[in-house]
Amino acid sequence: MSNIIKLLPDHVANQIAAGEVVQRPASVVKELLENAIDAAATSIKLVVKDAGKTLIQVIDNGKGMSDIDARLCFDRHATSKIQSADDLFNLHTKGFRGEALASIAAIAHVELKTKTEAAEIGTHITIEGSKVVSQEVAVVPKGTTLSVKNLFFNIPARRNFLKSNPVETRHIIDEFHRVALAHPNVAFKMIHNGSDVFDLPESNIRQRIVNIFGTKTNEKLVPVEEETEIVKVNGFVLKPAFAKKSRGEQFFFVNDRFIKSPYLHHAVTAAFEGLMKDGTHPGYFLYLEVPPKSIDINIHPTKTEIKFDDEHAIYAMLRATIKHSLGQFSIAPVLDFNKDASFDTPYEYSKKTPVVPTIEVDRSFNPFQEETGAKSGSVSFKKEATTAWESLYVGLENEGATTGTETVTGIQVESDELSGNLFGEEPSHKGQITFQIQNKYIVSAVKSGMMVIHQHLAHQRILYEELLKNMTVQEGVSQQLLFPVQLGFSKPKLELLGTIREQLEHTGFVFSSWEDEMIGIHGIPAGIKESNVEGILEQVLSDLEHEVPEAGFSQNDVLAKSLARSMAIKTGMSMEKEEQEHLIHQLFACKEPSVSPDNRPVLIMLNANDLDKKFI
Ligand code: ADP
Ligand code: MG
Repeated sequence: MSNIIKLLPDHVANQIAAGEVVQRPASVVKELLENAIDAAATSIKLVVKDAGKTLIQVIDNGKGMSDIDARLCFDRHATSKIQSADDLFNLHTKGFRGEALASIAAIAHVELKTKTEAAEIGTHITIEGSKVVSQEVAVVPKGTTLSVKNLFFNIPARRNFLKSNPVETRHIIDEFHRVALAHPNVAFKMIHNGSDVFDLPESNIRQRIVNIFGTKTNEKLVPVEEETEIVKVNGFVLKPAFAKKSRGEQFFFVNDRFIKSPYLHHAVTAAFEGLMKDGTHPGYFLYLEVPPKSIDINIHPTKTEIKFDDEHAIYAMLRATIKHSLGQFSIAPVLDFNKDASFDTPYEYSKKTPVVPTIEVDRSFNPFQEETGAKSGSVSFKKEATTAWESLYVGLENEGATTGTETVTGIQVESDELSGNLFGEEPSHKGQITFQIQNKYIVSAVKSGMMVIHQHLAHQRILYEELLKNMTVQEGVSQQLLFPVQLGFSKPKLELLGTIREQLEHTGFVFSSWEDEMIGIHGIPAGIKESNVEGILEQVLSDLEHEVPEAGFSQNDVLAKSLARSMAIKTGMSMEKEEQEHLIHQLFACKEPSVSPDNRPVLIMLNANDLDKKFI
């Protein structure tokens, strides 16, 4: 048999390698911004069109390249940053693999203009799919401009795989944040589709954070600072009161490089222990400096994870330092931190007076209340919609039923006398046996046995269908606020919110103003509390950012799901009997009562057979 192994041509090898380096437009943004930083630029401009699908351009005033380097930089493993394997352990640059430009040039139309300080004249190169189309001299200022157009033009499958523009833009902004936060001493600008998204002057860390996340952030920052032999830490954590339900601003930088570290994240979370409401996440901007020799950056292809030699010590010091800072700023209840003690000393609960946890319950809030006058925000009870579930109860009428109220250990059983006719001409709630278990499930006896309904998921289903309907027919019911609520959002968040403004209005939001970093709201959907508005919008934003709509599903769907999740009655809330019944009525008026918007089961049925089996 003849030999069959062949070396792949370079452009094919580059295309394959590109798959690792370039997953989406944001990957290109990261590589180009990092190259500009490595070139010692003091001012960097990022220009993006159509979420990077049409154009990504980075203009820097760094050291530029000679005409030969300008050509070489597109070769694979061409780098000026390391020369031998030993250099890997003493890295001071972001890049070192020499792969990025070769990969990008393999899958896009790339144009490079560059000039060094010393050169009289610069170079202009055009490359398409790894092929050099032209190389000319050009009159350009010192520095480099790299333009990447039509990303994935020769890999349609990858191009089609890209998400919607808001999602891809979000990824780009995330990368931009990471680089801009890591280098506050460099000026950055970002322009998307012709308008300024960020204009960040040279500054310190605090100013950089505020310039990115909005002026309101300033008052939320608690400084963190510590230096030991193995690590130097500085930066900020967000006051626990501003912790968010969504993982918002969580940034670790190690030697000016953004990294992800679940382990160190845990250390921060541990420092916040006892200070945060359940289900919220701390925010932080922490800058660690360690000797380059003590870390290994090489373990992840996109280089966001690194390995520390002395992970445990860093963990302990980070936790202790943050705890100390929170204490110093009178945020932690205890201030008995002793710097000389071992960092591992457990938090001294013994000296702390125990605080009884409280649960906030708004007893006046009744999500099932029908409004009089105005059109009800809830799906009205319709006879025809309930026929399917009425049949569940047929035959129950004459069976022996308990009356009055009984209390079984831990379970509250409340039942009215069963009337002879469960559902007469007029839908009647009377006589249906329902009770709530652990403020979480509603149990109802049905003809064939019993039905257990998850109250939170059931309400999600009801709200979801209702919200979707309101968005489609554009008739959400709004409750007017006496005083408009003013909410601050960072520019990109506001931009993202802008993409769903219309849908929000259809659900009942009324915006009185919509400015730079502020929106005013003077109407909210019926059924939500004014105090929850900020949390709900934050949640919606975070869902929009992270929950990419599945193919075939619209942004409406993501929004309806998200709002339903935040608005639905929570587990842990006690419900009156009428409310329980109302929930069941509404649930069975839904198109798909048995699954939640996220496809979780809303109810389970236990028939006599299932019960019989339990008694064998
Ligand atoms: P790496 O950054 O890993 O070295 P790249 O493919 O990103 O690999 O870049 C290859 C080389 O091109 C770099 O080592 C650098 O010498 C040069 N280069 C890339 N971008 C710039 C820039 N903006 N300014 C100056 N030189 C650059
Ligand atoms: Mg690079």
